[in-house]
Amino acid sequence: MNCKIFKQCGSCDYLHLAYEEQLKKKREYCVQLVKKAKLSQVKVTDTIGAKDPYHYRNKVIVGFNQRNEAGFYEENSHKIIPYTTCLLHDEESDAIIQKIASLLRKYKIQIYNEDRRKGFLRHVLIRRGIKTNQTMVVLVTTSSVFPGSKNFVKELTSQFKSIKTIVMNINTRKTSIVLGNDEKILFGKGYIEDELCGLKFKISPKSFYQINRDQCEVLYHKALSLLNLKGDETVIDTYCGIGTIGMVASKKAKQVIGVELNKDAVKDAIYNAKMNNIKNIRFINEDATAFMVELAKEKIVIDAVIMDPPRSGTTPAFINAVKALQPKQVVYISCDPSTQVRDLALFKEVGYKFDTMIPVDMFPMTEHVECVVLMSKVK
Ligand code: SAH
Repeated sequence: MNCKIFKQCGSCDYLHLAYEEQLKKKREYCVQLVKKAKLSQVKVTDTIGAKDPYHYRNKVIVGFNQRNEAGFYEENSHKIIPYTTCLLHDEESDAIIQKIASLLRKYKIQIYNEDRRKGFLRHVLIRRGIKTNQTMVVLVTTSSVFPGSKNFVKELTSQFKSIKTIVMNINTRKTSIVLGNDEKILFGKGYIEDELCGLKFKISPKSFYQINRDQCEVLYHKALSLLNLKGDETVIDTYCGIGTIGMVASKKAKQVIGVELNKDAVKDAIYNAKMNNIKNIRFINEDATAFMVELAKEKIVIDAVIMDPPRSGTTPAFINAVKALQPKQVVYISCDPSTQVRDLALFKEVGYKFDTMIPVDMFPMTEHVECVVLMSKVK
């Protein structure tokens, strides 16, 4: 495949492999994990591949070098590897980034130098609503003062009509975490919308949104078809982000409660429920473990749990709370099968059984894979 920085940027480990081969390798990785964890009852299905394995990434983050070239950071270093187009990015994003790179000189925008801690622009983050063709541009800067911003915004938005909002995110910290806390809207409403599973979602700069929209629909349909809700259930959507899978589930449940740590995501989720006129869902801004432990203390009756934690997986305390709550079903979605398998072993100890692991390819050309497992309470 034609990529000038293959092996350098470190993202596309599988780019040189035929797509079928990539899917096989991802399945094999999961097979080895369950074997190592002595969960030999678990059958790993074929990996569900993407229809189009290129240009799926709806979120892109780049830095710039002192020559104003956009690029990715070399692993474990401050060095920028310049690029112009990427086989994974949505193409509009790369075109916008190239334009921004060309505007840097014109508007005398200083690139941030990490070693000297000087300069203005740290990163540019682009997020695309692929279905709605809406783009968000986030300029991560070291100060909220941006002389010439009006003309910069005008020039960028007049060329790219898809840009619905431009936000400045101010990050003054010495950290590799991209986004800071403070935001200033330069253009538009400060968020974009996308459509997923027939629903509309507002997405703010700091909220999580699945980076592969089409495969996310495949993943959600898979997870919810395993859960097979009948309509009278109380479902807890843990690590719910902006409320996406919980809202899809709410159509087939009595009620859904979403819990999420990021307060911006929870605000989006509450707005999203209203926008879609969904009345049987509510959202709690809390640590998922703390929330589950509270539910267990109060002996609340729940029927099903959806869990989609970050790569670190969940906690033993969360799993013990599930043991106390005894939901009939738990569907576990994970973007890191190694922590998922670790957690599954604990779920087995507390009385849950499972026999199938389904890998879904959310990240073609990379070595990453998403997995879904349905667990049921042993009677
Ligand atoms: N289910 C959502 C989000 C999954 S990503 C979706 O499909 O879009 C994982 C989410 O867990 C992120 O939104 C992150 O902010 C949240 N999160 C991370 N740690 C958490 C914790 N301890 N408790 C609750 N949510 C947490």
